[in-house]
Amino acid sequence: MKRSNSIKFIADMHTHTVASTHAYSTVTENAKWASEHGIKYLGMTDHGVKMQDAPDTWHFENLKILPEYLYDVRIIKGIEANIIGTDGSIDIPVGAENIYYSILEWVNVSFHVQTFTPSVKTVHTEAYLNVLKNPYVDVICHSESPKFDYDFDEVIKACGESGRLIEVNVCRLERAQVSCDRYKKILECCMKYGTRIIVNSDAHFYTHIGQFGPAEKLLGEIGFPEELIINTSEDRFLGYLKERGKRTGKEKDNV
Ligand SMILES: [Zn+2]
Ligand SMILES: [Zn+2]
Repeated sequence: MKRSNSIKFIADMHTHTVASTHAYSTVTENAKWASEHGIKYLGMTDHGVKMQDAPDTWHFENLKILPEYLYDVRIIKGIEANIIGTDGSIDIPVGAENIYYSILEWVNVSFHVQTFTPSVKTVHTEAYLNVLKNPYVDVICHSESPKFDYDFDEVIKACGESGRLIEVNVCRLERAQVSCDRYKKILECCMKYGTRIIVNSDAHFYTHIGQFGPAEKLLGEIGFPEELIINTSEDRFLGYLKERGKRTGKEKDNV
């Protein structure tokens, strides 16, 4: 099935709040905008603690006090963890794993130059393959960076086989042509292996949430099948949550 032109996104699972100081909106501002723009599921995924201006561990440990819904938008408490070792380690503090993983509902993982010195393709490939062994990891984010080149076939196949997702990051698509070119190759590889994707804004200000125009354009150009995009259908998105043993919401408070 080819994508239809009336594609509609219902989730944005990579957004930041003022808890990361290079982001400028509160979770309340993010949720309000999301509710006004058709986004029903909002991932609150601030940077893991190794990033220079990331929140303290307290931020993650206390996420449970937030309501499940704000403006009728399901707030999914998550993290954008940094990949910090070739062995697949991420910056969930040693000794605090149980606390983190009992609270976090969504785990994005990314390479950032601030927390992993770019190396050679084999090293990045090994790190990605190892990070996929962590059962809590959901999404490999902004992997199009040429600084962190990797074996697309090997990682994307493993990602699909383990039921995780590859992200199309709109912020990166807007930033550079090289990102568009590399995402095209990544998406073609996802089609080859049937690996599912998620489109996210990586918003650092609320008006970017759910604004997926550049991704829609790219997906349309290559005829990417909509059934592999998990956030264009509530059924598909909820199906992923269930498949991964996550709560879907509507169980309790609604603010
Ligand atoms: Zn990032
Ligand atoms: Zn981010």
